[in-house]
Amino acid sequence: MHFVEGDAVNWVVLADGDAVTLIDAGYPGDVDAVRQSLDLIGYRPAQIAAVLVTHGHIDHIGSLPQLVSGSTPVYLSPTEVRHVHGEYREQATPVDVLRNVHRPGFLPWGLHVLRVGGTKHVTLPDAAPFPAEGPLDLPGRPVPVLTPGHTSGHTCYLLPEHGVIVTGDTLVTGHPTSPVTGPQLLHPIFHHDLDRTVETLGTLEALDADLVLPGHGRVHRGPIADAAARARP
Ligand SMILES: [Zn+2]
Repeated sequence: MHFVEGDAVNWVVLADGDAVTLIDAGYPGDVDAVRQSLDLIGYRPAQIAAVLVTHGHIDHIGSLPQLVSGSTPVYLSPTEVRHVHGEYREQATPVDVLRNVHRPGFLPWGLHVLRVGGTKHVTLPDAAPFPAEGPLDLPGRPVPVLTPGHTSGHTCYLLPEHGVIVTGDTLVTGHPTSPVTGPQLLHPIFHHDLDRTVETLGTLEALDADLVLPGHGRVHRGPIADAAARARP
């Protein structure tokens, strides 16, 4: 299990034998970093058995059109599949960001987003819903846990054998626009539905995991129940 901290967003590689599961994939401009992270552990993009996506925001799917061919399955929750097919859109707009540019961290972060292609509208026409319920038959045997709120189809991934939870943007431990580190929610402008995001922390609190791999920020060691309680506004 490899947790990769990108410049502004993270991804996770679950390796097993000659194949890997990739969870999330960074911005369009992160494609070389994603390739490099695979290379460092001895894998090529062709060995990605499937990509699991927490949600359809550009910082989590951006590199995929360049990274994988149509033959690599990309799975999300059924709701989020419609999001990445472009049927609807739930993402902070450049105007949302500009309105907050006076806040600490927003300007440098906004410039970074521009550099890495974060204003592109990327869709994944071949993305599909999970092929089964429960643990997926993929490296790492990840279990999707639906956590709607940040986006309507947001999904976390539990690795029960390892006590690990990949939380995407439901719970993070830091962000360039946040002055603090540790378990927290992203700034309200980033959530499609903040109330629902807070509600779904209850789902995380009920899980048995003590290593938290967030979409933004550092690894957090400690029970997810405590981390989720700390993140409550
Ligand atoms: Zn994100």
